Amino acid sequence: MDDALAARQRGGWMSFLHMPPRELLTAAHHSRDFTGSRAAYIFYRQRIVSLVFALLALAWIPVDWLFLPEGAFLPILACRLLFAAAFLSLAFCGERATSLRIARLLLGAFILIPACLFVASQAILAGTSLGADPETAAVVSGYGYLPYVMVTVMAIFPLTLLEGAGYALVTGIVYLLAQAVFNDIVSIRVIGEIWLLGLIAAVAVWVEVAQLGMLLRLYREATRDHLTGLVNRRVVADQLVAEIERAREQDEPLSVLLFDLDLFKRINDTHGHLAGDEVLRRFAGILDEKLLEDTLPGRYGGEEFIAVLPRRDTASAREIVECIAEATRRTAVTGSDGETIRFTTSIGVTELQDDDTVDSLLGRVDDRLYDAKAQGRDLVAVAV
Ligand code: GH3
Ligand code: MG
Ligand code: MG
Repeated sequence: MDDALAARQRGGWMSFLHMPPRELLTAAHHSRDFTGSRAAYIFYRQRIVSLVFALLALAWIPVDWLFLPEGAFLPILACRLLFAAAFLSLAFCGERATSLRIARLLLGAFILIPACLFVASQAILAGTSLGADPETAAVVSGYGYLPYVMVTVMAIFPLTLLEGAGYALVTGIVYLLAQAVFNDIVSIRVIGEIWLLGLIAAVAVWVEVAQLGMLLRLYREATRDHLTGLVNRRVVADQLVAEIERAREQDEPLSVLLFDLDLFKRINDTHGHLAGDEVLRRFAGILDEKLLEDTLPGRYGGEEFIAVLPRRDTASAREIVECIAEATRRTAVTGSDGETIRFTTSIGVTELQDDDTVDSLLGRVDDRLYDAKAQGRDLVAVAV
């Protein structure tokens, strides 16, 4: 059963999360396909906000020019230009990030750039607002709001509790260091600001985790087959396109496997649909167990399953497939009357060729599966 469904059915005060709490705490238990999608999601959002920040930093220059004393304006201008350049490079760096490590690193840079501007502005403007006219004092105090902007803007990302708390902590430490160096760290003003910063950070982290929970739920509903818990055909199709591209770039082999349970209609007719469902779940479990290190097996249709095997030619794919066929033969499901139900699968195997398209590759593996059926079922047919 799907983890989220299990969490909901277990009930208890956490059931409102619709998600096992550990998935909201760390990314360690997220599936590989979800992690890749979330990384890309974070990456694209970060790019847009970086671009907006770069433009906003430049747009404020005339205000500084009008209200800051000349001695402060020029160094602040230099900081703003550096800030804008750093954010512009963040906005345009890389083609796409489907690696969570890269997305996290970019988010770290996304936090550190305004942190640097904050520290530099505190150093440059220390004492400037004292005795200055109200407009200058207002412009100077605006730089003190940067840590609040930093913790608030993080709320647009779907983050785990540990990620959100980590980034908020970085902001808090930068704020405290700046206060220790440029101000009096134990003043009531600083205590009040830390309180407010902590409060805003807590709300922002709540929003980040809530977004993650919603994304996990929607992603699961859009990509998982409810009965077997395997990914659906769309995810495998996306995976196939990406893996074909990668196999060609790296000059590596790629195999595709197509499974069809044998005489499955008869299982339904003889033992009932619920028993048929259990057979499908058990077969999905076998695929998960035997293939998960290499790939994400998917449900292709009713009693048909598919898997894309990166870095494997047909000879090496065949070994895995024979192992799956054997595990299937050995598996027994118990029907509602206690009867033992056994089942087998026919399997088509093929390998990516130079002139293949997605359709030609899928067409060929389908033909091999048809051959396995025609030759008597419970067989593996490999395209040569
Ligand atoms: P073959 O060996 O030629 O593949 O024969 P088959 O009986 O497996 O093939 P056929 O296409 O005739 O029947 C497939 C059956 O799978 C028909 C359909 O009712 C059943 N089926 C499809 N989806 C589900 C499902 O989610 N649960 C159950 N219990 N049965 C399903
Ligand atoms: Mg079929
Ligand atoms: Mg069948």
